[in-house]
Amino acid sequence: ERKKLGKLKKTPAVTKDGTDITLLANIELPDDCSGALDLGAMGVGLFRSEFLFMGRAGFVNKLPSEDEQFESYRKAVVAMKGRPVTIRTLDIGADKPLDSAEQTALNPALGLRAIRFCLAEPQMFLQQLRAILRASAYGPVKLLIPMLAHAFEIDQSLAMIEQAKAQLREQNKKFDPLVPVGAMIEIPAAALTLPMFVKRMDFLSVGTNDLIQYTLAIDRADHEVAHLYNPLHPAVLYLLASTISIGAKAGVPVSVCGEMAGDTRMTRLLLGMGLREFSMHPTQILPVKQEILNADLGAIAAQTKKILRTMEPAAIVQAVEQLREL
Ligand code: PEP
Ligand code: MG
Repeated sequence: ERKKLGKLKKTPAVTKDGTDITLLANIELPDDCSGALDLGAMGVGLFRSEFLFMGRAGFVNKLPSEDEQFESYRKAVVAMKGRPVTIRTLDIGADKPLDSAEQTALNPALGLRAIRFCLAEPQMFLQQLRAILRASAYGPVKLLIPMLAHAFEIDQSLAMIEQAKAQLREQNKKFDPLVPVGAMIEIPAAALTLPMFVKRMDFLSVGTNDLIQYTLAIDRADHEVAHLYNPLHPAVLYLLASTISIGAKAGVPVSVCGEMAGDTRMTRLLLGMGLREFSMHPTQILPVKQEILNADLGAIAAQTKKILRTMEPAAIVQAVEQLREL
């Protein structure tokens, strides 16, 4: 089976009816790039930059310097040989503590994490933004902001990106002034106010791991409630499908970079919702590609419409399984 999949490395990801699908890799460190390329990644859809910061003692002055970060981002960009690299700004907190000793918030998943943390530490954020922008002089870079929910957070983030560019211009440092900026859609409030996002952002990426956690009020790291963590809950499917379709109508590209994107049981459902860009753990690229090669979008889209009208969990599970027989 693995040998058979191996033959698909160079095969383009195209559905039976001829629709091109983009398959991207989620990475944690620049060294993950060569493995991702080997497995047929067309780019990096999610570089979780917090892995450069984690396990380094909790004082902001001990974090990786701008130059150190720049080297890591540049390494990833160069390794991907002209393919796009989507670098997510620091998503620290909750399940990814900077320093476990610092985890004092009562409810870390609802606390000062990700963009909230970055906007509260503007010098640290500007340093990261400059490092990412500088890497864009070496190949296509996209900037992705996690955990946005409020318009002012989007506006402040965009203003800080402009500030970082102005600082680089002053220092005569090279960067691509047109680096696309996107938002993670992973808080239900964001999915429910998508027009606010498509108006301001160049692209969107749905983080289903957090979207499920926050929609269902299930801590994604708590084993006691793991049985309630259900990607097929109709509320989750509704938010996912509406994000994909509103993005498409607005002409703003939408990808999914949570675990759902790499789950072969979900591939056809996501295709049926209109998803054309998937980002996943590199080892899932070939299995997902195989699903895509055998998929006929017309039949799948019709069945997906029915699934999205269903509120009965058992019926949803059955209909999603049936998608794989189409
Ligand atoms: C997500 O929330 O789905 C996601 C991709 O980001 P992370 O798992 O790093 O929170
Ligand atoms: Mg997330």
